[in-house]
Amino acid sequence: MTAIDTPTDPTTVPDLIDTVARVRATFASGRTKPLAWRKQQLRALRRLLIDHEVEFAQALRADLGKSATESHVMELGFLVREIDHTLRHLDRWLRPRRVSVPVSLMPARARTVIEPLGTVLIISPWNYPMNLALAPLIGAIAAGNAVVLKPSEVAPATSAALAHWLPKVLDAEAVAVVEGGVPETTTLLEQQFDHIFYTGNGIVGRIVMAAAAQHLTPVTLELGGKCPAVVEPGTDLATAARRVAWGKFMNAGQTCVAPDYVLAIGRAADEIQAHLSAAIREMYGENPAKSAEYGQIINERHYERLTRLLADGRTVVGGEHDRPTRYIAPTVLADVDPESAVMGEEIFGPILPIVRVPDLDAAIAFINRRAKPLALYAFTSSAQSKRRLTHETSSGGLSFGVPTAQLGVLGLPFGGVGESGIGRYHGRYSLDTFSHTKSVVDKPLRFDTLRLAYPPYTRNKDRI
Ligand code: NAD
Repeated sequence: MTAIDTPTDPTTVPDLIDTVARVRATFASGRTKPLAWRKQQLRALRRLLIDHEVEFAQALRADLGKSATESHVMELGFLVREIDHTLRHLDRWLRPRRVSVPVSLMPARARTVIEPLGTVLIISPWNYPMNLALAPLIGAIAAGNAVVLKPSEVAPATSAALAHWLPKVLDAEAVAVVEGGVPETTTLLEQQFDHIFYTGNGIVGRIVMAAAAQHLTPVTLELGGKCPAVVEPGTDLATAARRVAWGKFMNAGQTCVAPDYVLAIGRAADEIQAHLSAAIREMYGENPAKSAEYGQIINERHYERLTRLLADGRTVVGGEHDRPTRYIAPTVLADVDPESAVMGEEIFGPILPIVRVPDLDAAIAFINRRAKPLALYAFTSSAQSKRRLTHETSSGGLSFGVPTAQLGVLGLPFGGVGESGIGRYHGRYSLDTFSHTKSVVDKPLRFDTLRLAYPPYTRNKDRI
């Protein structure tokens, strides 16, 4: 048994209250504000991710059956890139910005100053348990905050690894990791924070927002929903199918930005089926259960939920499942009724329904009748269709020809809209999320040019 397998003592309510108080005191001491502290913490985190990649990948494998490649690309490597990007630009992002002042206020100077919010709470989910805990942490540290991080108890090996390692390499008085589930999170949410950053489902998102309202604490909610992949006929359906399958079945479909369903226009609904089957075979072999690249369902509850959805259409490929290994094959369902359960909830698993609509108008109406998605994908070669989808629908992100890639572009914000979330982060946007932009005006007292503005307001004064 390694150190990180050792079960930790249950955290008591007074422990949690003390932890938050300690972290708040560290912020109040000013320790987290200097740029040198922030950069040193980010470099320490970077070293940890590189030096202990194998260990973290093992935790991810234990929780999700994640392959080493997916762990690198979507979690550890992603985080190292995010740190590098942040370190490269942080000085510039933090530079005060001069703003011109109106003539009536001259002489005076105006500028914006970016300051940390204070002590922030980050609550993260299980599906990318490293990425979704540490990507916000990078932004919070870069902005000079103290942090309480609550990883997901649903990915216990990764949660334990984070609780073990972060205090060893980071300033443990300023960054605390609290393990636990609903009771611990509920206690944390009762404490005062200066920002709460939550990633997970919308039901808990509402609980977080209601708790935050008690202290008037701002929130970022990174939520989910159903991300459509619109497919038009007359495009390269073989490539489209490969890309949809790649985005859908990585992490066994447990990805917030995975294409949730294919919204196929006309004959594309029939034509894409064989291509999807071929793509799945190419990626995971004849029997994906044997593939080292293919993940497992996180727990019994989700396994149960997902297997119930398998009957909601005609199985084109897949459908096999095995409870002991929590395996559900990459599955494509055709002829799916838009009113069926599989189209009513976010699937968050390896089941890909194909819904047929007659034309682009119907596809746009279909999307707009439902909650705004976290991501919208479209596979089309028509510039006109791209224009229409861009301007006639609303979603957190929009990507043509490739799913999930919006996360790989460091300069783009990541976040939802409407039911898919509130706020955005990554890179510069993380700094904005975890900072306050303060307006500063500096007017010398030496010449009182404001005299004309003081009461009593004479007619002459009215004219200035
Ligand atoms: P989860 O069960 O791990 O829950 C997320 C966090 O909320 C955990 O830390 C958990 O301890 C806490 N939590 C759970 N119940 C709570 C309660 N009653 N009160 C307070 N805290 C509570 O993860 P999940 O919600 O199953 O995650 C999956 C969902 O998250 C999907 O909807 C997915 O689309 C969404 N998601 C969104 C993003 C994004 O970046 N927008 C990323 C990943 C997942």
